[in-house]
Amino acid sequence: MIWEELHSELDALQRAGLQRNRRTLELPCGPAARVDGRSLISFCSNDYLGLANDPALVEAACAGARAWGVGSGASHLVSGHLEAHAVLEQKLAAFTGFARALLFSTGYMANLGIVPALVGRGDAVFADRLNHASLIDAVQLTRADSQRYPHADLAALERLLAASSGRRKLILTDAVFSMDGDLAPLPGLLALAERFDAWLLVDDAHGFGVLGRQGRGSLAHFNLPAARRLIYMGTLGKAAGAAGAFVAADATVIEWLQQRARTYIFTTASSPLIACALAASLHLIGDGDARRGRLWQLVAQLREGLADTRWRLLPSPTAIQPVIIGDNHEALRIAGALYERGLWVPAIRPPTVPVGSARLRVSLTAAHSAEQVDRLLNALRELA
Ligand SMILES: *Cc1c(COP(=O)(O)O)cnc(C)c1O
Repeated sequence: MIWEELHSELDALQRAGLQRNRRTLELPCGPAARVDGRSLISFCSNDYLGLANDPALVEAACAGARAWGVGSGASHLVSGHLEAHAVLEQKLAAFTGFARALLFSTGYMANLGIVPALVGRGDAVFADRLNHASLIDAVQLTRADSQRYPHADLAALERLLAASSGRRKLILTDAVFSMDGDLAPLPGLLALAERFDAWLLVDDAHGFGVLGRQGRGSLAHFNLPAARRLIYMGTLGKAAGAAGAFVAADATVIEWLQQRARTYIFTTASSPLIACALAASLHLIGDGDARRGRLWQLVAQLREGLADTRWRLLPSPTAIQPVIIGDNHEALRIAGALYERGLWVPAIRPPTVPVGSARLRVSLTAAHSAEQVDRLLNALRELA
């Protein structure tokens, strides 16, 4: 019975152009990819600074394994919190300007842990409509009254906050929206948080390492201080090139999360070799102006190159450059045609993005060359 049901639902996904298939990479993460023996240029990864396979990170990971072994052996609160983790947390706090930072195994787990630790029954959550799935799922775990405001709409959020009788209030937003590449109006959000005595949780998965002075992230981009009602979440598997995530905030908030975030408490601490690689990564991020400069040059090249074509780019100032297609099958068809030309660009479809807004999500990295971006431009011009 359950098999027949699943079978017919899988068939329905296929018919709707919504089935997702994996491709197995035969090379490490980078612009040069190989799948089934075929060479491709990949525009898929979130490895914005090209650090995932950087020799310095590889060496730090190997040295970390030699010094600390591979496994941490237990959760942080039992005996899995090794010096490598402690050092990284201190570096992350210093880098972001907050009093303390707490490591999580992934960004998904960080959000799932942070949000229900901060709010519960009787409280109120206000979330941008385009927030990442992990924030949406996190709200489901809270039992708080939750409302979604139209994307980046401060006036709508203000009305919701003014009308709320929630005990504690929490505003949730991506800093850089993962499927659109635009920035949240963080100064306005923080001003509303101050005015309505709310917390503001900023998920900077796509800004950390990329935006702001020395890659310190979206808060730095807007010159926002480490305000007490700000809770900053950054992920470490994107620009930082490894894996994991952290939350940085006021010391009391971090202490509370350490006591209450279930995805922090009830999971094995991540491998210490990852923490060692990340310490090296933070160093490269801080010194990474040349990498970021290359990235912004490529972003400008792509946007200028498509300006006089029929392809509609969203107004994104970041490494995420979506080309809106609309129809699911059409998005798949164009992604397929690019793939035939040796260019790998993911077609992003619902439920990841709203129905009718299927898109090619081009993501650029500092490791791409101008020539590789030209190849993508030429192919898109041809297909237009
Ligand atoms: C990728 C992403 C996450 C999840 O982070 P992982 O470390 O990959 O689990 C959370 N929030 C946003 C906005 C993301 O883009």
